[in-house]
Amino acid sequence: MSLPPSHKPGQLNIGLMGGTFDPIHIGHLVTAEEARQQFSLDYVIFIPAGLPPHKDKEQVSPAEHRYLMTILAVMSNPSFIVSRVEVDKKEPSYTIDTIRYFTTHGAPGANLFFITGADAILEIFTWKDYSALMNQCTFIAVSRPEYPLEKLGEMTEKLCPEMKSKIHLLEIPALAISSTFIRKRAALGKTIKYLTPEPVEQYIKKHGLYKK
Ligand code: ATP
Ligand code: MG
Repeated sequence: MSLPPSHKPGQLNIGLMGGTFDPIHIGHLVTAEEARQQFSLDYVIFIPAGLPPHKDKEQVSPAEHRYLMTILAVMSNPSFIVSRVEVDKKEPSYTIDTIRYFTTHGAPGANLFFITGADAILEIFTWKDYSALMNQCTFIAVSRPEYPLEKLGEMTEKLCPEMKSKIHLLEIPALAISSTFIRKRAALGKTIKYLTPEPVEQYIKKHGLYKK
């Protein structure tokens, strides 16, 4: 992945959105688009996980499928880019390493914003190197229906007040959609139309993903 040449590093605001994306869905896309606008991001880089450290390998689709579905989903948005940085790694990637990669190689000099759902950001408190991470980027924590932002605000205050200024809370239109929900529907042969962009829906059908 490289940035379009017309942009000089150092002037860019870049959002990073990591995820398993198994599959990517409109919840991810609405989140990225809202963050792009609210934080004047030049690009949002989607980073499908290779071997997600927190998820059981057996239950996750091959990285190449998840990567291609992410490409299909963002094709029509010139501000959205997909990175292979985690997919190409043999070992599980930790967010701290990915953020370091972007500060040194992927987007040196850019202002980095790590976009994550309120559920996923709570995991940051368990990262051993999170204070180093704090200095490398700003976090955008977005609401998910079952994870209200007030709860997150209270938790941050209690658990690590020093993180408060580094986390921006972003309310997005509530979409009670998850990849788990889509996988379950696909396994039952239920329609997944409009929950994910059409090319992704077609890709899932063509490759028979999520069939029992
Ligand atoms: P799964 O059900 O497999 O865990 P997921 O829908 O949570 O999938 P992930 O790939 O785990 O998707 O999530 C990537 C990022 O997107 C996480 O930061 C997650 O919090 C966020 N996210 C996922 N779905 C939504 C949604 N509907 N609204 C807001 N954020 C979301
Ligand atoms: Mg998840």
